[in-house]
Amino acid sequence: MTRPLKRHVEMESLFGADFLPISKKGRAAAPAPQPAPPVAPKAAVARPGSSPFPYEWEKDWPTDYLSFRTDVLDCRKCGLCSTRTQVVFGTGPIKTPLMFVGEAPGEDEDRKGEPFVGRAGQLLTTTLKRFGVERSQVYIANILKCRPPGNRTPAPDEMASCMPWLQRQIATIQPKVICGLGNIAVQTLLVTKTGITKLRGRLTQAQGVPFFPTFHPAYILRNMSELPLFETDIKQVLQIAGLLP
Ligand code: URA
Repeated sequence: MTRPLKRHVEMESLFGADFLPISKKGRAAAPAPQPAPPVAPKAAVARPGSSPFPYEWEKDWPTDYLSFRTDVLDCRKCGLCSTRTQVVFGTGPIKTPLMFVGEAPGEDEDRKGEPFVGRAGQLLTTTLKRFGVERSQVYIANILKCRPPGNRTPAPDEMASCMPWLQRQIATIQPKVICGLGNIAVQTLLVTKTGITKLRGRLTQAQGVPFFPTFHPAYILRNMSELPLFETDIKQVLQIAGLLP
């Protein structure tokens, strides 16, 4: 198998594919055309600030955290409030030993109101599952709560405006460990310019909490050869959090 094909197969299998379509050349006979399956209704696109509520994971959120969430959903502290579809507050139980922090919502997250639900998010979710951990067991948030247009890099003033929201989330959750995903999250929380390749896989401290940096899953999707390192890091942070023996 050629390397690009091997990589493609690895990536598809990560997202649950267990076969690859065979080209017409290799087939004995083309299958008879099937009637079109009924089209499932499209998931409703949430209106700005109106994520479905309550989510399963919000069941343990106390009233003051829910009202804090309402404040964040109404945030107008930076220009992203005029381009976002909705604020992506963060998901997960308040009582959890592990919090993931990424960079900023992308297109899928902006539409759905949930962090890490696009392809990068699916990689994070499948990697957690590989080690027997469900996404609903951990808290997931971002440095920015709103999508930068075209997924551009967050601007320093946007990160500075948004940081108090994340700080309050960290102070409430008090996780045993925070896992920083990718350069932006890690460099911002560690206040450093050192790159992720140097920092990843080493436990340190940020915001007064043990902090474990690793690659961003979107980077892994573009560099599948780093997947084993990412998996090793995730396994290690799950162990630090006590979610894995
Ligand atoms: N990338 C991020 O950093 N955060 C998300 O929520 C999705 C993609």
